Amino acid sequence: MSSSKKILIIGGGIAGLSAALWCRRLGLSPLIIEQAPQLGGQLHQIYLPLVDYPGFKGTASELLQALLSQMSEQEIDYQLEQKIERIDYKNNVAFTEKETLTYSALIMATGNRKRELPQFKPFLGSHVHMTATGVMEQLKDQHVAIIGGGDGAFENALLLAPSARKVSILMRSEQPRARQHFVEQAQQVKNINLHCQQQVQFFRDEPEFMGLQLAHSVTGEQQKFACEQVIIKCGYTPAQELLPDPLLLALLLPKGC
Ligand SMILES: Cc1cc2nc3c(=O)[nH]c(=O)nc-3n(C[C@H](O)[C@H](O)[C@H](O)COP(=O)(O)OP(=O)(O)OC[C@H]3O[C@@H](n4cnc5c(N)ncnc54)[C@H](O)[C@@H]3O)c2cc1C
Repeated sequence: MSSSKKILIIGGGIAGLSAALWCRRLGLSPLIIEQAPQLGGQLHQIYLPLVDYPGFKGTASELLQALLSQMSEQEIDYQLEQKIERIDYKNNVAFTEKETLTYSALIMATGNRKRELPQFKPFLGSHVHMTATGVMEQLKDQHVAIIGGGDGAFENALLLAPSARKVSILMRSEQPRARQHFVEQAQQVKNINLHCQQQVQFFRDEPEFMGLQLAHSVTGEQQKFACEQVIIKCGYTPAQELLPDPLLLALLLPKGC
């Protein structure tokens, strides 16, 4: 099965794992580099059963276990806790903090990440969370503000409403962007409140966490907004820092691509 063609796969999520399996099938030598302490990527963030993954019914951890056993059957190499920091595309070399890795071909499977709001960092884990699932017990009987007006925000609000004291959805836009049936359901739940055209600016500056500072998206009018917990649901952003700039990419790609 060994081949001199070393394929470097950056990212050990489901995309990286499936790319590695396919490379192996082609008789190539894939090596997965993953920055996290375990393979699986976003599969570790899914706490509810997978309902719409084609051809599979079960939990994300069951899916991951199946993938990992395929990986070990195929003896696919991987390295954990290694972040690719930089790539020299001209010479086919990738750099981690400690290692220099040469490759014949590179597969970028770096996925995406939740959009964070930097000003919330000091409170991550204590008063601020990226999702409700996984911290349901901590949010019980609390007033939870959810920032965002999309599916994720409404889904989390509906999930939280039975156990939270109050759920407030804060969105910048005039109307929610979430699916209509999520919005209709939320409008019927007594302890869910929608606040449109509200932009979250920063925390009220008491030493203890007390809530948020809001500004009206159109008038700029400011108000203090008391709440105990916050969930950020502002969508995803692609992890694309390692991609070459478009000019270099045009030079690197074979003609006709
Ligand atoms: C809560 C939730 C529920 C979901 N539910 C469903 C569902 O029901 N059905 C469905 O089909 N999909 C669902 N998804 C989406 C699905 O999980 C993702 O589309 C999929 O896991 C993405 O896989 P990926 O390999 O592309 O990226 P990721 O899983 O994001 O993996 C990318 C990996 O690359 C690593 N990486 C990034 N940069 C570097 C670097 N520089 N060096 C080394 N490693 C790096 C990251 O650490 C990460 O492990 C859900 C996602 C979430 C978060």
